[in-house]
Amino acid sequence: MSAPHEWSVVELGRALAAGETSSVELTRHFLDRLETHRDLGAVLSLDPEAALEQARAADARRAGGAAGALLGVPIAHKDIFVTRALPSTAGSRMLEQYRSPFDATVVHRLADAGTVTLAKLNCDEFAMGSSNENSAFGPALNPWDRARVPGGSSGGSAAAVAARLVPAATGTDTGGSIRQPASFSGVTGIKPTYGVCSRYGMVAFASSLDQAGPMARSAEDCALLLSAMSGFDPLDATSADRPAQDFHAQLLQPRSGASASRPLAGLRVGLPSEFFPAALAADVDGAVRAALAELEKLGATLVDVSLPRTELSIPVYYIIAPAEASSNLSRYDGVRYGHRAAQYKDLLDMYKKSRSEAFGPEVKRRIMIGTYVLSHGYYDAYYLQAQKLRRMIADDFQRCFAQCDLIAGPVAPSVAWKLGAQGDDPVAAYLADIFTLPASLAGLPGMSVPAGFAASGEGAGMPVGLQLIGNYFQEGLLLQTAHAFQQATDWHRRVPGGF
Ligand code: GLN
Repeated sequence: MSAPHEWSVVELGRALAAGETSSVELTRHFLDRLETHRDLGAVLSLDPEAALEQARAADARRAGGAAGALLGVPIAHKDIFVTRALPSTAGSRMLEQYRSPFDATVVHRLADAGTVTLAKLNCDEFAMGSSNENSAFGPALNPWDRARVPGGSSGGSAAAVAARLVPAATGTDTGGSIRQPASFSGVTGIKPTYGVCSRYGMVAFASSLDQAGPMARSAEDCALLLSAMSGFDPLDATSADRPAQDFHAQLLQPRSGASASRPLAGLRVGLPSEFFPAALAADVDGAVRAALAELEKLGATLVDVSLPRTELSIPVYYIIAPAEASSNLSRYDGVRYGHRAAQYKDLLDMYKKSRSEAFGPEVKRRIMIGTYVLSHGYYDAYYLQAQKLRRMIADDFQRCFAQCDLIAGPVAPSVAWKLGAQGDDPVAAYLADIFTLPASLAGLPGMSVPAGFAASGEGAGMPVGLQLIGNYFQEGLLLQTAHAFQQATDWHRRVPGGF
């Protein structure tokens, strides 16, 4: 029999239900793997005793007659979700010693479904970044090539899932942080519609954009996790008040007019010309186009659409996200929680020293940009203009969705880059967010699906993701489409060498 780390979440759930294994046994196995591969930098903290206690409780629930696809399945959380059992650092020195008195809604919903929390996973500081190199605790490495980044900001989650150190993990996506690391590391990840997952207990970066989602091997596994972690939460004022959904049942339901060989019959997939610029890396372009041909084979029709303000989403996002961040991060003043400087002259000096000591350079940069664009003299020139453009970007999508059911394209313009490659050029990293930012600004659901590997060139052998974007609350359709694709392809089953 194969080892548990080779099993999907669905398979783990089945094995648990059949009594072929126990949650304690699985938890031990994955704790062991996390420990063995600690040098991947994916883990920030773990507490074997606490995990085993949860596992014993899950086994007891099952013995008592409880059932559930996730009951006893071990997972891990991005360290941007607060947890009682483990530290919650958000990848920052500021919160290095921080212990939360409560669990984030997403965390406790997954725990209620019976998952076991194995570990807290590395991420860019306050989720600001695209490579995990902005973590105060060092980068996570890409399991496909340790000289490369796993993507970010949910880089620890992507690396851990790709290396089979955990069956699945949570992530958050403000401007691409689930989709881009999923693409760079060859795993499946979905950012649902803004408001589908509660933000309560997610350390805030840019509140109008932040959204949680699952990262796993397959769309089917993601569907199971998303069903458990989503749903209305009165503790989040922007939570969508809609009935809970069973995305897994939806995913298995055949589309009307579909057949076994053409499961996507009738599906119109829009290709925005702006998502296929001449500058797109040939390897990414090749893999994405092959994936689109596969969708066609499965019955989908490809239609040309346009998102004319795609390029503008970069300046718009990099005004709005820092503006909100500068406000959200003002709470770290050394008074209530987080780092406080050891020595200071007076209150102002204490604020200044605490913040200069504990925030990293990218976080400081964003606080400065955000404060600037919100300042009296510049608010109209930057922040207000950005808000207007944000609305126009959202409207552009609605024009597309009059012609198609979902939109497809690349997740990122290149495969994972080398560690340090963007050293002192933050703008280079910002530009690479071009294909994920539009859906974020519009609040639309988006996902990344493993679609192949770079065939040649500098990044040969690195994974490439296909991005799917749906209209509001169409995460079910995204997962169903990705599932059909994954039934016909095996990219998501590939495992990096050595794992
Ligand atoms: N790369 C983007 C940024 O640095 C997105 C990050 C995210 O989605 N959390 O802001």
